[in-house]
Amino acid sequence: MNHAAHSFVYIFMRVGFALIALGALSPLFPAADLALTGGTVYPSPDSPLIANATIVIHDSRIAAIGPRASVRIPAGAKVLDCSGKFITAGFWNSHVHIFTPGLLQARNAAAPELNEQMDAMLNRWGFTSVFDIGSVLENTLALRRRIERGEIRGPRILTVGEPLWTETPVYVRGFIESNHIAMPVVNAPEDAVQRVRAQIQRGADGIKLFTGSVQGGGKVANMPLDMVRSAAQEAHRHHLPVIAHPQNSAGLEAAIAGGVDILAHTVPDSPSWTPAFTARLKQAHVALIPTLTLFDFEARKGGASDKDREQWIEKMVSELRTFSEAGGEALFGTDVGYTDHFDTTLEFTLMSRAGMSFPQILTSLTTAPARRFGFSGHIGRVAKGMDADLTVLEGDPAKDITALSRVRLTVRGGRILYTAN
Ligand SMILES: [Zn+2]
Repeated sequence: MNHAAHSFVYIFMRVGFALIALGALSPLFPAADLALTGGTVYPSPDSPLIANATIVIHDSRIAAIGPRASVRIPAGAKVLDCSGKFITAGFWNSHVHIFTPGLLQARNAAAPELNEQMDAMLNRWGFTSVFDIGSVLENTLALRRRIERGEIRGPRILTVGEPLWTETPVYVRGFIESNHIAMPVVNAPEDAVQRVRAQIQRGADGIKLFTGSVQGGGKVANMPLDMVRSAAQEAHRHHLPVIAHPQNSAGLEAAIAGGVDILAHTVPDSPSWTPAFTARLKQAHVALIPTLTLFDFEARKGGASDKDREQWIEKMVSELRTFSEAGGEALFGTDVGYTDHFDTTLEFTLMSRAGMSFPQILTSLTTAPARRFGFSGHIGRVAKGMDADLTVLEGDPAKDITALSRVRLTVRGGRILYTAN
């Protein structure tokens, strides 16, 4: 090959790689321009609403937003009439599991089957970003790749992959065994550090520690503090978050002392949270994912009486209430994928019962997780230049909090993930 041909091939390859690199950066395939007109927009939890608004989406980003009269719709844009609807930034669910039987073969399963699962569990509830906090890492990464390639309709997925525990929790043993999944225990701090390092190298976005792991018969296996601390330090060295399943008081204390960032649940086996305790959580910058619906699910599964179930839920609600009153940072999350209670209505009802206002709940769904997980530069608010991640609601969540679960349309990166019939 002569020199000129070499140069041509070289330039061609450079351009090719540049295109591939651009493709890898853009979250989804470019979609046609979209304009959402006539809706009421809540741009962020702390800014005034925009009535009768127009949002223009170009190349996966918000190109313009404002009162209808002030925004020009580009020729050729697809216009979606959102009159009577309410629009917020796309929701986060910070506690999910890509771990249902239908999602466990993500590499090879047919796209329509995966779409059906993603619709039922996530898309139809307005989620454009989720944090998977316990699953098979390779499988979750395979699903994420297919979503990012545009083969599957789904949210942005962050994942911890396999959680770390000193004993397998009793309630997942059967599932793990029957699906031939390997989730080994960790035996020593150095062992935990190696696991953290290996999983981050394989693509994990954080780590999950069972500082308390239920063993049945009222027993809880607590992770030793030096193990929690070593694992957390290793994750923090990579600037990644550490999420803990605390379960009881010892698990809570190990999480706080060990430098954990986020509690995956309110805590069933601990004394009621006092203002002094939640002030400590706030002081340590520990966020809380309430997962209140989970306790309803577990109580029903365990055959508890209505009275016992109500009492148990009220304990969890009061933990969230005390935490929220102390100014703690809540992250919305429901543990779907472990539970099959995909409907978010109960979670919003219970968060509201804990005294959280609409702006506070919207914070837990949008700006708080975006900031916590390092995305606030481009998601979490409806503003010009931000990613076009939007949730369109049938009703006004400022008047009725359960409107947050009646989703009309879910848009991620300008691409429609879900439309209600
Ligand atoms: Zn969970």
